Amino acid sequence: MADILQQEIKYLPGVGPKRAELLNRELGISTFYDLLHYFPYKYIDRTKFYKINELRGDMPYVQLLGKIMNIAVTGPPRKKRLVATFTDGTGTIDLIWFQGIKWMKDAFPQNKTYVVFGKPTVFSGKINLVHPEIEEEEKINKRLNAALQAQYSTTENLKKNFLTSRVIHKLQNTLLQQTLDAIPETLPHKLKEQLVLISRKEALLHIHYPADNEWLRKARFRLKFEELFFIQLNLLKQKVYRDRHFKGYIFDKVGYFLNTFYKEKLTFSLTGAQKRVVKEIRRDLGSGKQMNRLLQGDVGSGKTLVALMTMLIAADNGFQSCLMAPTEILARQHFFTISKWIEGLGINVALLTGSTKKSDREKLHPQLREGKVHILIGTHALLEDEVQFKKLGFVVVDEQHRFGVAQRARLWEKSELLPHVLVMTATPIPRTLAMTLYGDLDVSVIDEMPPGRKPVKTLMFTDSKRLRMFSFLRQQIAEGRQIYVVYPLIRESETMDYKDLEDGYASIVEAFPPPRYAVSVVHGKMKPEEKDVSMKYFISGKTHIMVATTVIEVGVDIPNASVMVIESAERFGLSQLHQLRGRVGRGADQSYCILMVSHKLTHEARKRLEIMLETTDGFRIADADLKIRGPGDLEGTQQSGIPFTLHIANLAQDGQILQLARESAEKILEEDPELSLPYHKMLVIQLRKLSATQKNYSRIS
Ligand code: ADP
Ligand code: MG
Repeated sequence: MADILQQEIKYLPGVGPKRAELLNRELGISTFYDLLHYFPYKYIDRTKFYKINELRGDMPYVQLLGKIMNIAVTGPPRKKRLVATFTDGTGTIDLIWFQGIKWMKDAFPQNKTYVVFGKPTVFSGKINLVHPEIEEEEKINKRLNAALQAQYSTTENLKKNFLTSRVIHKLQNTLLQQTLDAIPETLPHKLKEQLVLISRKEALLHIHYPADNEWLRKARFRLKFEELFFIQLNLLKQKVYRDRHFKGYIFDKVGYFLNTFYKEKLTFSLTGAQKRVVKEIRRDLGSGKQMNRLLQGDVGSGKTLVALMTMLIAADNGFQSCLMAPTEILARQHFFTISKWIEGLGINVALLTGSTKKSDREKLHPQLREGKVHILIGTHALLEDEVQFKKLGFVVVDEQHRFGVAQRARLWEKSELLPHVLVMTATPIPRTLAMTLYGDLDVSVIDEMPPGRKPVKTLMFTDSKRLRMFSFLRQQIAEGRQIYVVYPLIRESETMDYKDLEDGYASIVEAFPPPRYAVSVVHGKMKPEEKDVSMKYFISGKTHIMVATTVIEVGVDIPNASVMVIESAERFGLSQLHQLRGRVGRGADQSYCILMVSHKLTHEARKRLEIMLETTDGFRIADADLKIRGPGDLEGTQQSGIPFTLHIANLAQDGQILQLARESAEKILEEDPELSLPYHKMLVIQLRKLSATQKNYSRIS
């Protein structure tokens, strides 16, 4: 049986090839199914009628019920308009149209009752409705339940071709009449009963044509739940499958490398959170299953150390590890810190980035294949085909959000069994988002900072305080501290942004002249060697101030740097601001973050900055970020891509429904891990359908 929902949209009466193409191009709608799942963004209550004598010029949309007393074309030839005098017994009002005059002027017989819908406007002291919707009352009653009128977002292009919200609404009506009986249920009866969910058919009907508010609520709940449920079911099913079928290397030994490191190299004790996470990881490594773990922890919470200890366990068990970082600077820094940590242990660490020389690569490749290199650290360059290991057992992906899913998957192919995977992220992800993005991973959290850290003090200044700010910086430098000054550079290609940076650099050098002061600069357009030299000068303390773009945002660790000045702070996103602030406060001294802002701030920018002043807690910041910006927009998620398009659920608001969806999916998989029971067949069918329509649905992780 052909699935009517898969029909091309051009076959829907009222659409045709031209509109079909527009719908496709502008809204991505190409089938009946797509249109049915193009949900309204709001509803207008059509149960309420206003009286003409109640109308005021500042009202939003109003609905009137009455008769037309007189209708006529007036005005000079070039400014013709159609004016209808409309009454409901409490007064009269003019309905005015400037377009469609010809066919409209005879379309409204005067003996009928009409429903008029529009926004009151005041014109020369009189209230009018310009271009109102008008329809015979009788006809409205004949339509499907129309109490709350759905509003659909459209584009200029669509409107030009008469595909307005109203027209889309009408198309939905035609569509529902044609397909309603063919809409299959996708959720098992038992689940629907437990959660008191209405049927899918009812939900789709009432989302487009709600009978009343209660039906609308039920329809929304059902559709949101379903959307989130299948995402969770898909993720958890993959996890269950992996757990049941994919073996992992067993690292059951703790040997010379870790023991010696622990006894001789580690000069401080692990925090409670670090100990807990190491335990969680060791349990995974001994289980015979492949580890897939997300390690969340605020900047500076000591994730890298946990990763290193795990790499040493891998080495103790005869396996190689690699660590992939998102930027060259970070990879280098990891390489240097890790090299220092393991000095004298007999572990070989190598670095591989885009700028590694060909001759060095040629030396490195055989060493990797022969197992002579224990730990390989690098950037995307690790993914190249020539990079082959003898026995890759453990992969660390740092700052995961910058890597695409496909890139992660490629690392897996470099060993016989799947290597254990630890994904580290310092961008605290709100729980709801983590559940969707990484729902198939186990999660460990480092929620405790190493002792002795003082929270960073955050201050906000406008330009009028710049001189005072400079004298504060001089004072800090006199005390031996170092300073970052960061300029926004949202797109590395924008020359304008570079001008900000260059001007900024010039003014800093002017205010901090040599020979007394030394200033370094680092930005994305520099050659790696130049960046390196600049970084080295700053790390070694030869320069006092580092002027930079956000290339220093992630991971850079210089404990002596105690002030972070962020120029045009209002132009940064919250999580970026938080990352930048995390660059200081790494030593024992009091650190400062100074937000330089302009006088004029948008409401949103002000909110972001207020949160920065209020808290240093990464999770609170992430939550606030999600609320302010909405999930589709979260930094980093674009690159890695929220793997699903959400049509109706909203991660910022529907956390509880998500939780319910996840628990429901867990329960079902507990009972039926392979979804092979007859009454779960509908779930398998739906998952298959979704993976056919959403390209990332069956992503590998
Ligand atoms: P993250 O990767 O989470 O940002 P790092 O692992 O880079 O954090 O650690 C930040 C700094 O804190 C490093 O200088 C590290 O040596 C130090 N550190 C890590 N764990 C501890 C601990 N338990 N006690 C004291 N210092 C620690
Ligand atoms: Mg780090």
